[in-house]
Amino acid sequence: MDIKIPEHLVQYCQNIVKPVSGNPFQIEERDKGTALSPEQIRRMQEDILHLKKERNAVLLVHNYQAPEIQDIADYVGDSLGLSREAAKTKAEVICFCGVNFMGETAKILNPERIVVLPDTDAGCSLEECAPAEELAKFKAEHPELFVVSYINCSSAVKALSDVICTSGNAVRIVSKCPKDRPILFTPDQNLGSWVAKQTGRKMILWPGCCYAHALFTAEAVNQAKKEHPEAKVVAHPECLQEVKDVSDEVCSTEKMISYCRENPAREFIIVTEANMIHRLQKECPGKLFFPLRVRGYLPECRHMKKITLSKLLDTLRTLRPQIHLSKEIMDQARAPIERMLEWS
Ligand code: SF4
Repeated sequence: MDIKIPEHLVQYCQNIVKPVSGNPFQIEERDKGTALSPEQIRRMQEDILHLKKERNAVLLVHNYQAPEIQDIADYVGDSLGLSREAAKTKAEVICFCGVNFMGETAKILNPERIVVLPDTDAGCSLEECAPAEELAKFKAEHPELFVVSYINCSSAVKALSDVICTSGNAVRIVSKCPKDRPILFTPDQNLGSWVAKQTGRKMILWPGCCYAHALFTAEAVNQAKKEHPEAKVVAHPECLQEVKDVSDEVCSTEKMISYCRENPAREFIIVTEANMIHRLQKECPGKLFFPLRVRGYLPECRHMKKITLSKLLDTLRTLRPQIHLSKEIMDQARAPIERMLEWS
């Protein structure tokens, strides 16, 4: 396989995830909101639940959302579980708490329903790393490619893909790809290289990465192991290879729950977005979880943090902002998503 990713794309992706000094997870001032008292949180949660009923809405919430949002969800999960829930819901309104590409996936699977996302500016560095026009150009130069796209990409990139995957099913999906075609894996090179190792399939890797997961280092893991010598290290496949090499388990956020629940260890160092700890604590009582910090900072995704309880309340009041996509894009993007749901 002699297909190379052009250097300008490598540079482009590196610029998007360039580490910054100070707190690399700095949350934008307008997304911080004012600190709410427990009583204010409780009242807002009640109002949200009331409106949700009135609107016949289902509340789908990603594992990386704030605890006060997770606690009132109809379903909390990873991208695979959320896609499955979105595909089977009968609710009139899908209210999605996660980032933009997740809301778009729900809309593609439910074009007739109203899909709302409390802040449509909630992006993702992986999505940014893969502009659809660059992928279209690359595909035109190499029409033999079979394109597998991680769900963390735009609907336009999905429309150009042969099949979609999540971190929970990527190994299974890639192992089912045609053996007689070279695979292009977009946009996450870290997930892609892990899947290539697991499946033994050679793949061309788009050079994107998650800015948050790419900040974890093997040195930080080793330091945390010294502080918690009994703990098992559980890392997300979006992390760098050096981190995966020093971890006891590499898996999707959903698999983290069953791994930690079933493992006899009592302590775990969790190498992913910090809000994952909330669900782990709820579902694995009696165990201790330590988020891996980066330069002392808690790893919170600045995109996920754009969704707040007050924005969620406003969204259910106004049914805005809604996700709108062209019929053409939705029709083209639906086939590879449905193929994923069939294959997984
Ligand atoms: S944690 Fe990374 S992959 Fe997930 S939404 Fe944030 S930037 Fe995207």
